Amino acid sequence: IKHNVETLIKRCKETGIDVAAVVKLVCGDPIIINEIANSPITTIADSRLENFEKITDINIPKMMLRIPMLSQIDKLVDLTDISLNSEIETIRKISDVASSNGKVHQVILMIDLGDLREGIIDDDVLDRTVAEIIHLKGVNLLGIGANLCCFGGVIPNEENMLKLVRIKHHIEN
Ligand SMILES: *Cc1c(COP(=O)(O)O)cnc(C)c1O
Repeated sequence: IKHNVETLIKRCKETGIDVAAVVKLVCGDPIIINEIANSPITTIADSRLENFEKITDINIPKMMLRIPMLSQIDKLVDLTDISLNSEIETIRKISDVASSNGKVHQVILMIDLGDLREGIIDDDVLDRTVAEIIHLKGVNLLGIGANLCCFGGVIPNEENMLKLVRIKHHIEN
């Protein structure tokens, strides 16, 4: 695993890509995740808060991949630094919990590019969501994301990646 991580990171660095290692397959195994965290990887990602509970003493930014449930927000804010989100109701609650704990949680806003697994579909909803997030005290809009090669099997290509870039410019404007 260590060798693979190092090889992958080296190749990604050459093209300016930062890598988040998805570790859900090892179910929070601290020995393996510690090896990965000691590589030049920037973030550890998992879909389950139960797995993050096993690695609280590994000091590296942690990202929750699965859209968090409203009932899990206290734990989410406690155990992770970044999460993928597409619902303003959830993001509001993350902000409330984070600010009452003196934290700022990082949010990556998901946008649907046709895969239909997760993400905002409607342009107006996107605008309204962004307009609200930037005023919330307990969250920071870290970036936007998209889910591909999953439910609908949509493959990343120049066209859908450019759509994401256009949305990025639109949000920045
Ligand atoms: C893995 C994954 C899930 C499913 O999580 P499980 O813990 O496997 O049930 C959901 N969303 C995303 C983005 C994932 O990567």
